[in-house]
Amino acid sequence: MVARSFADARTILLDMDGTLLDLHYDSYFWNEYLPIRFAQIHGKTPVESTLFVHQLLQQHRGTLNWYCTDFWSGEFDLDIMNLKSEISHLIAYRPETLTFLGRLTKMNKRVILTTNAHPNVIALKNDMTNVLAHVDEVVSSHDLQSPKEDQNFWRNMQSQLKFEPNTTVFIDDSPTVLDAARQYGIATTVHIATPSVKSQPSPSPDHPSINSLMDLIHP
Ligand SMILES: [Mg+2]
Repeated sequence: MVARSFADARTILLDMDGTLLDLHYDSYFWNEYLPIRFAQIHGKTPVESTLFVHQLLQQHRGTLNWYCTDFWSGEFDLDIMNLKSEISHLIAYRPETLTFLGRLTKMNKRVILTTNAHPNVIALKNDMTNVLAHVDEVVSSHDLQSPKEDQNFWRNMQSQLKFEPNTTVFIDDSPTVLDAARQYGIATTVHIATPSVKSQPSPSPDHPSINSLMDLIHP
């Protein structure tokens, strides 16, 4: 069913982290590396630092601030982009992403990277993967002043990019974001159940859930 919608779709909206790229880099950075480096930089114990960092992150989850490296540099009084660069060797594609993107090009789909990542994070990830060479357009929620969780994001995106929701497929690893896209009227939402190579699959009960992007082409 979802493979049929995919075959018929004209526009494919693709999330970046956890959909095209392995979420392990991001999970490791925020949950483990940042608390370690925060403790070193500010002279805290690892336990104090981990508690502080996790509590502060939790307060802003789902907001545009949560995805903003400038905001976090201010909150933690350190340079988030420098720290991200220190472990940039962990930035990687999910399995089969490049095969999938190659197939999309051959199928003549309009491919739009649709991400909550800050433009400077998109740039860092592109330095390591060249992902932007494989898409037609890029939308960062920071350019539209609302995260993908918000209906304003979808309204602003549609008025700027003029895509047709009825013939659009949106693929993301966040059920909350997929719910928002469906509420806006995106015809087909697809959930990635395996965003990180280090985690067990976690299917969504509310959206068609796939383990590999190639499942859309060879179900
Ligand atoms: Mg994601």
